[in-house]
Parts: sequence; structure tokens; C-alpha cells
Amino acid sequence: MRHFAQGLAASGDRLARVVITADGKQRIRLSRSLTSMFVYVVSILTIEYSIRSGIIRDPYWVRWLQVGMILWMAGVYAVLRSGLNERLTDRGLTNLQILGANTWITLGYALCPAIRGGMMMLLTLVLVFGIFDLSRRGRAIVNTWTLSFFGAVQWYMSQKYPAEYPPRIELVHWCMVATVVPVVSLLGGQLNDMRVKLKQQKADLVEALDRIREMAQHDELTGLYNRRHMNQLIEDAVRNMERSGLHFCVCIIDIDFFKKVNDTYGHGVGDDVLRNFARQAGTIFRDTDSIARWGGEEFLLLMGNTRAEHASIAVQRLHAAIGGMVIATAPSLRVTFSAGVAQFRQGENTTAVIERADQALYKAKETGRNQTMY
Ligand code: GH3
Ligand code: MG
Ligand code: MG
Repeated sequence: MRHFAQGLAASGDRLARVVITADGKQRIRLSRSLTSMFVYVVSILTIEYSIRSGIIRDPYWVRWLQVGMILWMAGVYAVLRSGLNERLTDRGLTNLQILGANTWITLGYALCPAIRGGMMMLLTLVLVFGIFDLSRRGRAIVNTWTLSFFGAVQWYMSQKYPAEYPPRIELVHWCMVATVVPVVSLLGGQLNDMRVKLKQQKADLVEALDRIREMAQHDELTGLYNRRHMNQLIEDAVRNMERSGLHFCVCIIDIDFFKKVNDTYGHGVGDDVLRNFARQAGTIFRDTDSIARWGGEEFLLLMGNTRAEHASIAVQRLHAAIGGMVIATAPSLRVTFSAGVAQFRQGENTTAVIERADQALYKAKETGRNQTMY
């Protein structure tokens, strides 16, 4: 029984994908259009009933009306389903669908005098669809078309068939429609404005969240990851190693005699050195490696799927690049760094591996600087 229900749900899903596609926006447009088509179908059936029960005495043009509505529905569906609408400015075909619907309804009003009260109701219902994405200009066009076409048809019918369409009653009908249509349209417009504002607010929030996330993970001066984020990355690497057995290394890099740089050239140049260093480091290593500003003039490099020997060879490339680095604000300045590499050992924690890298760095400093040890 459960299998049957699941199978049924899956088939329903497949059918929905075929009928209204899986693409988010097209899906919304198509399902909205199908909702309006439901109203068309009910109207066609109501007219059919009216013909068969003799309420409509001369069905010739009414039959054409039914055929026209069916062809219109099929056309709108075909354009939306094929994605042709994506090339238009009014992608939801909202304007066209509303203008079309009100034209059909007005023709129905003219051809089915006995049920024209119901037709008038539908004129207003159609406008509700405009709430979703009708611009101010679109609403003005729809209102003008609805009232003028409806008025013109009423005038024609009351001139030609005054017994069935008494002019004074038609005038009252027109006045009612002319009151209800703009008011519904206005309220719909206000709802639409609210919807647009909410959408904008949501976009702003997403952007702000991205900015906050960026700030929470990055160091302001160099743009590299900050210490907090690097700690997270190291923990991820440990988990990854436990799962897949991939080795990783951490390397702590410390600029040599940086205090002297500050003292000799000023703090501004010191900052330039840090920024340039970060830029160089960003271009040297692989995409799978991550680098963070670990402290003042210290950086931590995390190298995934790497053993200590290879890590230290990679850091040699950075030594070469930094050796040739020229700082625009202090062209005579040459900078070197020392580094300590440690390969993570199964069973140890993140503090321990960083501690070993720090010891290797200490050794590199003690034995002459401008070198990498592991
Ligand atoms: P060693 O070779 O032993 O590493 O010597 P050092 O001078 O680099 O090391 P020390 O730790 O004595 O000095 C680090 C200096 O880095 C001290 C501090 O003023 C400077 N510093 C830390 N953060 C910044 C920063 O954001 N900008 C600048 N310009 N300097 C910084
Ligand atoms: Mg230091
Ligand atoms: Mg230093």
C-alpha cells in the first residue's frame, strides 16, 4: 500500500515536471496560467450547459467563442511550455493573458445575454491575476482596454438588440464595472508593490549576509582567510583525513625582521609588505591549499593531500617569489621569511600539529632565517 502511494506520488511528480516543467520561474508562470485555464474550462462548460438547456437560443457564434477560447488556451500554454516567452519583456505573458481573457469575457457577455451577470464577475476576477507581475503601465493598459472594449460592445449590442440589452441597464452595468475594475486593479497594484519591496528586501538581506560571511572569514588588511576560519579548515582537514586517509600539512610562515621594516620604512610600508606578501602567496599555491593571516606578520598555510617533503618544496617557490618582490612604496626593501612545516599525524589534535609547525619555524629562525624546516 505504501509502495503504491509512493509510486503514485512519483508518477504525479513526473507528470508535473512534464506539464509545468521543473524550472522554478517557468513553473510558477505555467501553474498560474493553468489556474486561469481552469476558469476558462469552467466557463466553456457553463456555456455548454447553457446551450444544451436552452438558455442560449442561438449557439452558432457561441460555438465559435468556445473554439476560440480553447485555441487561445492552447496557444498561451504552448508559448509558456516551449520557453518562447523568455525572449519577451513580459515573460509571464501577464499583460497578454489578462487582455485576452477580458476580451473573451466581453465577447461572452455579448453572445450569452442570459448569463451576462456571471461574465461581469469574471472581468474582475481576471484582474486579480495581475497582482503577480503587472506594472503600473500594464495595469493602465488593461483597465483602459477592459472598460473601453466592454463599453463599445455594450453600446453595439444595445443598439442592435435593445430588447435583450436595454441601454439603461447596460449603462448601469458599465458604471458598476467601471467602479470595480479600477479599484481591484489599484488594490492589486498595492499588493504588487509590497511584493516587489519584499523581494528587494530579501535580495538586500542575502547580499548583507554574504558580506557578513565574507567579513567573518577574511582578514581585512590582506584579504586572506582569518585565524578563526583557518582553525575551521584545519578541523575539516582532520575529519577528511580520518575518512579518506588523505595526508595534509600545516606550514607557519613568519616574515623575518619585520619589526625593522616598520621601524625603518614606517608602518604604512609594513602594511604594504603584508598585502604584497599575501598577493604573492595567493598566486603560488594550488587551489586545494588555503592560506590565512595567522597573526601580525605570520601566515598559516594548509596544504591538502601533501606530505611534508613536498610541502617544503612548494614553500621554496614562495621563497623565490618573495625574494624578488618589489614594494612600490619602498623599492630598495627586500623581504625574506622563515617557515616551519608539520605533517599531521593520525591521532593527534589540531593544536599539536600547529605546535610542531611552530617548533620547526623556531628552528628555522634559530639557524639563520630565510629558510623552511620540517
Ligand atoms: P623575526 O625575524 O624574529 O620574526 O623578527 P620580527 O621583527 O619579524 O618579529 P617580531 O615578532 O619582533 O615583530 C613583529 C612585528 O610585526 C611587530 C609588529 O609591530 C609588527 N606588526 C604586527 N602586525 C602588523 C600590521 O598589521 N602592520 C604592520 N605594519 N606591522 C605589524
Ligand atoms: Mg612573528
Ligand atoms: Mg617575524
